[in-house]
Amino acid sequence: MSTSVEAALVERRAAALDLLAALEREHAAVVSASEDSNADDEHDPEGATIAFERAQLDSSIADLRAQVDQLDAALERVAAGTYGICEVCGLPIPPERLAVRPAARTHVACAG
Ligand SMILES: [Zn+2]
Repeated sequence: MSTSVEAALVERRAAALDLLAALEREHAAVVSASEDSNADDEHDPEGATIAFERAQLDSSIADLRAQVDQLDAALERVAAGTYGICEVCGLPIPPERLAVRPAARTHVACAG
């Protein structure tokens, strides 16, 4: 089964990295915009907007990095032959779940 699973994981990883690069550029632009202006005073409405944007970007970037890490770990499990096996109960994870969450390590029920 591994080739198509692996291709799908590699594709998702590449898409996440593209998006990550775009968000990092946006983040750098927001940071330099706030440094160029005096708008970084938190009492200034403009500054608060920039701070909010930065916080949003920081959290999106952190999410994407976590996704890439999870996809890397999933690719390692493909290589090790343990991909699609629930880490909690040891039974196969349904393909429908893996289709939605390809980096899933457990069943929905076992994840909680
Ligand atoms: Zn399980």
